[in-house]
Amino acid sequence: MASPDLIYETIILGSGPAGLTAAIYAARSRCCPILIHGHQPGGQLTTTTAVDNYPGFPEGIDGPELMEKMRQQAKRFGTQFVEGDVTRVDFQERPFRVWVGEDVYRCLALIISTGALPKLPGLGNEEALYGRGVSVCATCDGFFYRDREVVVIGGGDTAMEEAVFLTRFAKQVTVIHRRNSLRATPVLADRALTNKAIRFKWDSVLTEIIADQSGVTGVRIRNLKTNEESELSCDGVFIAIGHQPNTGLFAGQLDMDDEGYILTQNGTETNIPGVFAAGDVQDHQFRQAVTAAGTGCMAAIQAERFLDDLPYDPNLSCQRGVCKTRE
Ligand code: NAP
Repeated sequence: MASPDLIYETIILGSGPAGLTAAIYAARSRCCPILIHGHQPGGQLTTTTAVDNYPGFPEGIDGPELMEKMRQQAKRFGTQFVEGDVTRVDFQERPFRVWVGEDVYRCLALIISTGALPKLPGLGNEEALYGRGVSVCATCDGFFYRDREVVVIGGGDTAMEEAVFLTRFAKQVTVIHRRNSLRATPVLADRALTNKAIRFKWDSVLTEIIADQSGVTGVRIRNLKTNEESELSCDGVFIAIGHQPNTGLFAGQLDMDDEGYILTQNGTETNIPGVFAAGDVQDHQFRQAVTAAGTGCMAAIQAERFLDDLPYDPNLSCQRGVCKTRE
């Protein structure tokens, strides 16, 4: 049982592919990790059905099943799991402190892998339709729309990349954007604008995703200039209006970019030695399970090296090889 009375070598925050991979590596290196996760562990992959692009699963694997397998693997090597919402952290003093409700957990090294959440238009049924026509990742789900009609919401780099990617499968891709010019960088915008399989509905927003029992059948959109509403039949809705990293807890303590992503250097190091960040919380570009897992591995290795280099302190120094936390 993880105990707030002890000082841990490594605490990992978040239980997506980055956090669980960090836990597997940290536990195998006997860095005695505890992993703190919220009430719905597993991160964004638990909202995906088939994951076809994670290496090692030639037939594909369900997102929740993949996450459960990673969890079992982390547990097998001795990771302890703590369920609860982290309400506060303090990285100003060592050991670092992490509050979970009334309990305060302390550690020498900390890996943040709290992920990011896709922004949604707020229509109410988007999440319920994940896996049944609504997607927030064309790389993950585009394959399922061969010869179908899809819409992409958004006018940024992600939306343009996804729209172009989707033309490999879908017979018609319609981009719905709330303005009449794109936010995307010119090179990506041009690629989409000159692609004959993509059409644009400008100055328009989604007002409804229409679905029956089998899934999405169309969308209702409103033109913001004329106020006219119209319906568009489609089989898939790809939402690409940006992501929100889960970093509110660390504001004022860790360096972040303008969008709130944690800034890292030399792999996964943050501005505070001993605090590392892995996965979508520090990556707005790739956002794949396998890249998150890769940075989770990097964070665990960097944390291990950090622990190895700590000066000897009878109260705080590591007991590597014993895998025992200290009072
Ligand atoms: P983004 O740049 O924030 O663009 C979001 C798009 O969604 C904007 O066009 C925005 O409209 C629209 N939008 C936002 N909220 C909306 C709402 N509620 N309803 C309808 N539309 C809404 O996000 P992103 O495209 O995910 O890109 C994020 C970052 O990653 C950017 O820095 C981007 O350059 C980078 N990125 C780079 C690459 C690459 O280099 N290959 C690929 C992907 C992403 P407005 O334009 O009106 O604001």
